[in-house]
Amino acid sequence: MQVIRFIYASDVLLGERRVNLVEVSLVAVSFRHIVAVVCSSNPITTSIGVLLESSSSKPHLESCSVDRTLQTLSDPWSFLVLRELWFGLKRFDEFQGTLRIPRATLSNRLKALREAGLLMQVPSPQGGLRKEYRFTEKGADLYPVMLTLLRWGDRWKNGDAGIPLHLTHHACGKRLVTEVVYSCCGTKVNAKDVEYQDGPGAGVEPAAAGSKTNRSSKPDKFTLPRACSVARTLQVMGDRWSFLVIREMFFGRHRFDEIQKRVGIATNILSNRIKLLMSHDILERSNYGAGSTRYEYHLTASGMDLYASFLAMMRWGDHWLSEEQGAPLILRHKKCGKVFEPEVVCKQCRLPLVAHEVHYKPGPGWDVNFGEDILAHTMLPRK
Ligand SMILES: [Zn+2]
Ligand SMILES: [Zn+2]
Repeated sequence: MQVIRFIYASDVLLGERRVNLVEVSLVAVSFRHIVAVVCSSNPITTSIGVLLESSSSKPHLESCSVDRTLQTLSDPWSFLVLRELWFGLKRFDEFQGTLRIPRATLSNRLKALREAGLLMQVPSPQGGLRKEYRFTEKGADLYPVMLTLLRWGDRWKNGDAGIPLHLTHHACGKRLVTEVVYSCCGTKVNAKDVEYQDGPGAGVEPAAAGSKTNRSSKPDKFTLPRACSVARTLQVMGDRWSFLVIREMFFGRHRFDEIQKRVGIATNILSNRIKLLMSHDILERSNYGAGSTRYEYHLTASGMDLYASFLAMMRWGDHWLSEEQGAPLILRHKKCGKVFEPEVVCKQCRLPLVAHEVHYKPGPGWDVNFGEDILAHTMLPRK
């Protein structure tokens, strides 16, 4: 707030534009960290110019761990590399052979995943110069998120072929059904029983620019080369804007204008995403007001069922991507009144799920052309 007063008092003009209090205060709230720089540096006009330019040309999003997680998962190639690692691949040539991906693209994605702290390189146990890839703790912890995406895809996106993979939970020996439960009560979460409160990390942040915000990432690549329910799920909502629209629904916002304001995207992009989500039977619309031609959008049963993934992504993002200030959102279970964390567990034995305790077998929807040998690989841990 001191920053705002100072800027106002100095009566800054930016080109033809006079900076007024309201405008600057919005900028200050949106760009907390940058404002701190403005405060301690001298060329104030330039800094404010940068701030205003950023604020007018880029949409802002409420800080959200789901969005941060999705930025990690929504690049098709990066996602596929992570998936293959869960399937037991560990070397560059194995990834390349399976994914049929150009070498440069693969190197680039592996580098990005290392920089994001999800993967690390270790010397090959066979010796020599070869390196292998392993999950870091942060990367391995994405596994419960993947399981919720897998479950959703199995349930809603299989068509007639049946599920591609059967999963068995080693701890109880039963077929794995993933469930997201309240840490407070241990019962299955229900979107209607969850209340949201701003957490210590609440605020808004600029939306990431570039390809991650549009559909140029070619969602069809998600499905190459093996049948996979997670890939099918990400094809539907791996696009950040689509998922942010779904998020607003979970937060109880159902009208075009409200959503547009909260997500801060262009109306044509929003219309496009709403149409897409309706074509995937995730959203449906209804009129509101008598004789009105205005619509409200609501999640269908399959849309509501994305809640488990939504919470699993939130948990991961809160844990690994929130800065010092902490989680942007606090969740409260309305029925018991307690703050909770979403936990991903096995429905049968209620134990939390980790990668090396889940085994795979091809299901009826497995692509036989791809072979089954890949599943013979053992899973984590491989430290
Ligand atoms: Zn509870
Ligand atoms: Zn179990």
